[in-house]
Amino acid sequence: MFLKNRSESEELRVMKVLNSRMDLAEKEKQYYLNLQKGFEGEVIFDGYLKRIVIQSLILNDLLLEQNHSHYQIDSLMISQRLSFLFEVKNFEGEYYFEGNKFKTINGNEVKNPLLQLDRNVSLLRQFFNSFGIKIPIEPYLVFVNPDFTLYQTPLNSRIILPTNLNRFIQKMNKQMSALNQQHVGLSEKILASHITKSPFSKVPHYEYSQLRKGVFCQACGTGIAEYHSLILTCPKCGKPVNTNSALVRSIEEYQVLYPSEKLSTNTIYEWTGDLFPKRTIRQTLKENLIISGYGQWSYYE
Ligand SMILES: [Zn+2]
Repeated sequence: MFLKNRSESEELRVMKVLNSRMDLAEKEKQYYLNLQKGFEGEVIFDGYLKRIVIQSLILNDLLLEQNHSHYQIDSLMISQRLSFLFEVKNFEGEYYFEGNKFKTINGNEVKNPLLQLDRNVSLLRQFFNSFGIKIPIEPYLVFVNPDFTLYQTPLNSRIILPTNLNRFIQKMNKQMSALNQQHVGLSEKILASHITKSPFSKVPHYEYSQLRKGVFCQACGTGIAEYHSLILTCPKCGKPVNTNSALVRSIEEYQVLYPSEKLSTNTIYEWTGDLFPKRTIRQTLKENLIISGYGQWSYYE
Protein backbone atom coordinates (compact mmCIF):
# COMPACT_ATOMS: atom_id res chain seq x y z
CA MET A 1 0.00 0.00 0.00
CA PHE A 2 1.36 3.41 -0.94
CA LEU A 3 1.25 5.69 2.08
CA LYS A 4 3.11 8.52 0.45
CA ASN A 5 2.94 9.12 -3.26
CA ARG A 6 5.47 10.71 -5.49
CA SER A 7 5.04 13.99 -7.27
CA GLU A 8 7.45 16.27 -9.08
CA SER A 9 9.58 18.10 -6.55
CA GLU A 10 9.17 21.83 -6.17
CA GLU A 11 12.66 22.19 -7.56
CA LEU A 12 11.86 20.21 -10.69
CA ARG A 13 8.68 22.21 -11.26
CA VAL A 14 10.57 25.50 -10.96
CA MET A 15 13.38 24.35 -13.24
CA LYS A 16 10.88 23.19 -15.85
CA VAL A 17 9.25 26.62 -15.98
CA LEU A 18 12.59 28.44 -15.98
CA ASN A 19 13.81 26.26 -18.82
CA SER A 20 11.03 27.52 -21.06
CA ARG A 21 11.23 31.15 -19.94
CA MET A 22 14.93 31.91 -19.69
CA ASP A 23 18.20 30.68 -21.17
CA LEU A 24 19.64 28.36 -18.59
CA ALA A 25 23.41 27.98 -18.46
CA GLU A 26 24.60 24.61 -19.78
CA LYS A 27 25.24 23.35 -16.25
CA GLU A 28 21.79 24.43 -15.05
CA LYS A 29 20.14 22.83 -18.05
CA GLN A 30 21.98 19.56 -17.38
CA TYR A 31 20.90 19.75 -13.75
CA TYR A 32 17.28 20.21 -14.83
CA LEU A 33 17.46 17.30 -17.29
CA ASN A 34 18.98 15.08 -14.60
CA LEU A 35 16.21 15.97 -12.16
CA GLN A 36 13.62 15.19 -14.82
CA LYS A 37 15.26 11.90 -15.72
CA GLY A 38 15.61 10.86 -12.11
CA PHE A 39 11.94 11.56 -11.52
CA GLU A 40 10.93 9.52 -14.56
CA GLY A 41 13.03 6.62 -13.29
CA GLU A 42 11.33 6.73 -9.92
CA VAL A 43 7.93 6.70 -11.61
CA ILE A 44 9.00 3.59 -13.57
CA PHE A 45 9.99 1.91 -10.31
CA ASP A 46 6.65 2.85 -8.73
CA GLY A 47 5.03 0.85 -11.54
CA TYR A 48 6.85 -2.23 -10.24
CA LEU A 49 6.10 -1.50 -6.59
CA LYS A 50 2.40 -1.30 -7.46
CA ARG A 51 2.58 -5.03 -8.18
CA ILE A 52 3.55 -5.88 -4.59
CA VAL A 53 0.64 -7.82 -3.15
CA ILE A 54 1.93 -8.74 0.32
CA GLN A 55 1.04 -6.55 3.28
CA SER A 56 3.42 -3.62 3.18
CA LEU A 57 3.64 0.13 3.61
CA ILE A 58 5.40 2.07 0.87
CA LEU A 59 6.70 5.59 1.44
CA ASN A 60 8.10 7.41 -1.54
CA ASP A 61 10.32 10.38 -1.93
CA LEU A 62 11.34 11.09 1.64
CA LEU A 63 13.67 13.78 2.87
CA LEU A 64 14.93 13.17 6.40
CA GLU A 65 17.52 14.62 8.70
CA GLN A 66 19.75 12.75 11.12
CA ASN A 67 22.54 14.41 13.13
CA HIS A 68 22.31 17.50 10.93
CA SER A 69 22.76 15.41 7.77
CA HIS A 70 19.97 15.46 5.24
CA TYR A 71 19.28 12.38 3.17
CA GLN A 72 16.79 11.51 0.49
CA ILE A 73 15.07 8.17 0.14
CA ASP A 74 13.54 7.26 -3.20
CA SER A 75 11.37 4.46 -1.83
CA LEU A 76 11.02 2.74 1.51
CA MET A 77 8.92 -0.38 1.86
CA ILE A 78 8.06 -1.70 5.28
CA SER A 79 7.07 -5.37 5.51
CA GLN A 80 6.63 -7.55 8.56
CA ARG A 81 10.25 -8.53 9.12
CA LEU A 82 12.22 -6.12 6.94
CA SER A 83 12.38 -2.56 5.68
CA PHE A 84 13.52 -2.25 2.10
CA LEU A 85 15.37 0.89 1.15
CA PHE A 86 15.50 1.55 -2.58
CA GLU A 87 17.84 3.94 -4.32
CA VAL A 88 16.56 4.28 -7.89
CA LYS A 89 18.75 5.26 -10.83
CA ASN A 90 17.58 5.96 -14.36
CA PHE A 91 21.05 5.79 -15.91
CA GLU A 92 21.32 4.98 -19.58
CA GLY A 93 24.35 3.54 -21.36
CA GLU A 94 27.25 1.39 -20.30
CA TYR A 95 28.87 1.56 -16.87
CA TYR A 96 31.22 -0.45 -14.71
CA PHE A 97 32.48 -0.59 -11.16
CA GLU A 98 36.18 -0.35 -10.51
CA GLY A 99 36.82 -0.96 -6.87
CA ASN A 100 35.04 1.84 -5.06
CA LYS A 101 34.63 3.82 -8.26
CA PHE A 102 31.72 3.90 -10.66
CA LYS A 103 32.52 4.82 -14.24
CA THR A 104 30.98 5.21 -17.66
CA ILE A 105 32.35 3.04 -20.45
CA ASN A 106 34.54 5.98 -21.50
CA GLY A 107 36.22 5.96 -18.12
CA ASN A 108 34.49 9.06 -16.70
CA GLU A 109 33.92 8.73 -13.01
CA VAL A 110 30.39 9.21 -11.74
CA LYS A 111 29.29 9.51 -8.11
CA ASN A 112 29.17 5.93 -6.83
CA PRO A 113 25.52 5.18 -6.01
CA LEU A 114 26.51 2.31 -3.71
CA LEU A 115 28.32 4.75 -1.43
CA GLN A 116 25.25 6.97 -1.44
CA LEU A 117 23.15 3.96 -0.52
CA ASP A 118 25.53 3.03 2.34
CA ARG A 119 25.27 6.52 3.74
CA ASN A 120 21.47 6.49 3.55
CA VAL A 121 21.21 3.11 5.26
CA SER A 122 23.47 4.22 8.04
CA LEU A 123 21.45 7.40 8.65
CA LEU A 124 18.12 5.60 8.44
CA ARG A 125 19.36 2.95 10.87
CA GLN A 126 20.22 5.70 13.36
CA PHE A 127 16.73 7.10 12.86
CA PHE A 128 15.21 3.67 13.60
CA ASN A 129 17.47 3.21 16.64
CA SER A 130 16.48 6.57 18.07
CA PHE A 131 12.90 5.25 18.25
CA GLY A 132 13.97 1.80 19.47
CA ILE A 133 12.80 0.17 16.24
CA LYS A 134 14.43 -3.18 15.59
CA ILE A 135 13.21 -3.93 12.03
CA PRO A 136 16.34 -4.58 9.91
CA ILE A 137 16.92 -2.48 6.79
CA GLU A 138 17.73 -4.17 3.50
CA PRO A 139 19.13 -1.71 0.96
CA TYR A 140 18.92 -2.03 -2.81
CA LEU A 141 20.31 -0.05 -5.68
CA VAL A 142 17.84 -0.30 -8.55
CA PHE A 143 18.65 0.50 -12.16
CA VAL A 144 15.37 0.88 -14.02
CA ASN A 145 16.34 1.96 -17.53
CA PRO A 146 16.18 -0.90 -20.07
CA ASP A 147 19.07 0.77 -21.94
CA PHE A 148 21.38 0.48 -18.96
CA THR A 149 24.23 -2.02 -19.06
CA LEU A 150 26.55 -2.79 -16.17
CA TYR A 151 29.82 -4.58 -16.87
CA GLN A 152 31.78 -6.38 -14.21
CA THR A 153 28.82 -6.34 -11.86
CA PRO A 154 30.17 -6.94 -8.40
CA LEU A 155 28.64 -10.05 -6.86
CA ASN A 156 26.46 -7.78 -4.87
CA SER A 157 22.97 -8.85 -4.10
CA ARG A 158 22.09 -5.22 -3.42
CA ILE A 159 22.12 -4.30 -7.12
CA ILE A 160 18.96 -4.86 -9.13
CA LEU A 161 19.35 -4.56 -12.88
CA PRO A 162 16.46 -3.83 -15.26
CA THR A 163 16.39 -7.47 -16.33
CA ASN A 164 16.07 -8.61 -12.69
CA LEU A 165 13.20 -6.32 -11.74
CA ASN A 166 10.34 -8.69 -12.54
CA ARG A 167 12.00 -11.56 -10.70
CA PHE A 168 12.70 -9.31 -7.74
CA ILE A 169 9.04 -8.32 -7.43
CA GLN A 170 7.96 -11.97 -7.73
CA LYS A 171 10.38 -12.90 -4.96
CA MET A 172 9.06 -10.11 -2.75
CA ASN A 173 5.53 -11.33 -3.28
CA LYS A 174 6.46 -14.80 -1.97
CA GLN A 175 7.29 -13.46 1.49
CA MET A 176 4.87 -13.81 4.34
CA SER A 177 3.99 -10.45 5.78
CA ALA A 178 1.47 -9.44 8.39
CA LEU A 179 1.74 -5.89 9.64
CA ASN A 180 0.89 -4.75 13.12
CA GLN A 181 0.69 -1.54 15.09
CA GLN A 182 4.47 -1.31 15.37
CA HIS A 183 4.79 -1.02 11.58
CA VAL A 184 2.07 1.57 11.36
CA GLY A 185 3.71 3.51 14.19
CA LEU A 186 7.03 3.43 12.35
CA SER A 187 5.51 4.77 9.14
CA GLU A 188 3.80 7.54 11.10
CA LYS A 189 7.10 8.53 12.71
CA ILE A 190 8.79 8.65 9.32
CA LEU A 191 6.03 10.74 7.75
CA ALA A 192 6.10 13.14 10.68
CA SER A 193 9.86 13.58 10.23
CA HIS A 194 9.68 14.18 6.49
CA ILE A 195 11.00 17.60 5.49
CA THR A 196 9.24 19.38 2.65
CA LYS A 197 11.71 22.13 1.90
CA SER A 198 14.81 20.73 0.23
CA PRO A 199 18.17 22.14 1.36
CA PHE A 200 19.76 20.75 -1.81
CA SER A 201 18.00 23.15 -4.14
CA LYS A 202 20.19 24.49 -6.93
CA VAL A 203 17.58 26.68 -8.56
CA PRO A 204 19.28 29.68 -10.22
CA HIS A 205 18.32 33.21 -9.32
CA TYR A 206 15.53 34.60 -11.52
CA GLU A 207 14.06 38.06 -12.00
CA TYR A 208 10.59 38.63 -13.36
CA SER A 209 11.86 41.17 -15.90
CA GLN A 210 14.26 38.63 -17.43
CA LEU A 211 11.67 35.93 -17.94
CA ARG A 212 10.07 35.43 -21.35
CA LYS A 213 6.40 36.27 -21.29
CA GLY A 214 4.05 34.23 -23.41
CA VAL A 215 2.69 30.75 -23.89
CA PHE A 216 5.14 28.10 -24.94
CA CYS A 217 4.64 24.82 -26.77
CA GLN A 218 5.25 21.94 -24.37
CA ALA A 219 6.69 19.79 -27.11
CA CYS A 220 9.28 22.15 -28.62
CA GLY A 221 9.27 25.29 -26.47
CA THR A 222 8.30 27.69 -29.27
CA GLY A 223 6.18 30.69 -28.34
CA ILE A 224 2.59 30.63 -29.56
CA ALA A 225 1.68 33.92 -31.19
CA GLU A 226 -1.78 33.42 -32.59
CA TYR A 227 -4.87 33.24 -30.41
CA HIS A 228 -7.85 30.96 -31.10
CA SER A 229 -10.64 30.51 -28.64
CA LEU A 230 -10.60 26.69 -28.69
CA ILE A 231 -7.29 25.34 -29.92
CA LEU A 232 -3.85 26.94 -30.05
CA THR A 233 -1.36 25.55 -32.52
CA CYS A 234 2.41 25.63 -32.26
CA PRO A 235 3.77 27.55 -35.28
CA LYS A 236 6.87 25.36 -35.36
CA CYS A 237 5.91 21.75 -34.65
CA GLY A 238 2.17 22.08 -35.24
CA LYS A 239 1.21 20.50 -31.92
CA PRO A 240 -2.31 21.57 -30.94
CA VAL A 241 -3.22 22.45 -27.38
CA ASN A 242 -6.58 23.21 -25.86
CA THR A 243 -6.71 26.97 -25.23
CA ASN A 244 -8.13 26.64 -21.77
CA SER A 245 -5.50 24.09 -20.67
CA ALA A 246 -2.76 26.34 -22.04
CA LEU A 247 -4.07 29.23 -19.99
CA VAL A 248 -4.46 27.14 -16.84
CA ARG A 249 -0.95 25.79 -17.28
CA SER A 250 0.45 29.30 -17.73
CA ILE A 251 -1.22 30.44 -14.52
CA GLU A 252 0.18 27.40 -12.71
CA GLU A 253 3.64 28.20 -14.06
CA TYR A 254 3.38 31.69 -12.64
CA GLN A 255 2.39 30.22 -9.29
CA VAL A 256 5.30 27.78 -9.32
CA LEU A 257 7.75 30.68 -9.64
CA TYR A 258 5.84 33.12 -7.43
CA PRO A 259 3.91 31.03 -4.90
CA SER A 260 3.19 33.88 -2.57
CA GLU A 261 2.19 36.48 -5.17
CA LYS A 262 -1.46 37.28 -5.60
CA LEU A 263 -2.98 36.64 -8.99
CA SER A 264 -4.84 39.18 -11.01
CA THR A 265 -6.15 39.36 -14.53
CA ASN A 266 -3.50 41.92 -15.42
CA THR A 267 -0.65 39.87 -13.98
CA ILE A 268 -1.61 36.86 -16.05
CA TYR A 269 -2.33 38.99 -19.11
CA GLU A 270 1.24 40.24 -19.03
CA TRP A 271 2.69 36.85 -18.09
CA THR A 272 1.09 35.19 -21.10
CA GLY A 273 2.38 37.85 -23.48
CA ASP A 274 -1.00 39.48 -24.07
CA LEU A 275 -2.16 36.34 -25.90
CA PHE A 276 -5.46 35.72 -24.12
CA PRO A 277 -8.30 38.23 -23.96
CA LYS A 278 -8.63 39.66 -20.46
CA ARG A 279 -12.20 38.45 -20.08
CA THR A 280 -11.04 34.86 -20.77
CA ILE A 281 -8.35 35.19 -18.12
CA ARG A 282 -10.82 36.66 -15.63
CA GLN A 283 -13.27 33.83 -16.31
CA THR A 284 -10.60 31.15 -15.89
CA LEU A 285 -9.30 32.66 -12.67
CA LYS A 286 -12.84 32.72 -11.34
CA GLU A 287 -13.56 29.12 -12.29
CA ASN A 288 -10.35 27.89 -10.74
CA LEU A 289 -10.37 29.99 -7.64
CA ILE A 290 -11.30 27.15 -5.32
CA ILE A 291 -9.85 24.03 -6.91
CA SER A 292 -6.86 23.94 -9.16
CA GLY A 293 -4.07 21.53 -9.97
CA TYR A 294 -1.67 23.55 -7.92
CA GLY A 295 -2.89 24.70 -4.55
CA GLN A 296 -5.41 27.43 -4.22
CA TRP A 297 -5.35 30.49 -6.40
CA SER A 298 -5.30 33.20 -3.90
CA TYR A 299 -6.76 36.20 -5.64
CA TYR A 300 -8.28 37.50 -8.80
CA GLU A 301 -9.91 40.68 -9.90
ZN1 LIG B 1 5.95 23.05 -30.81
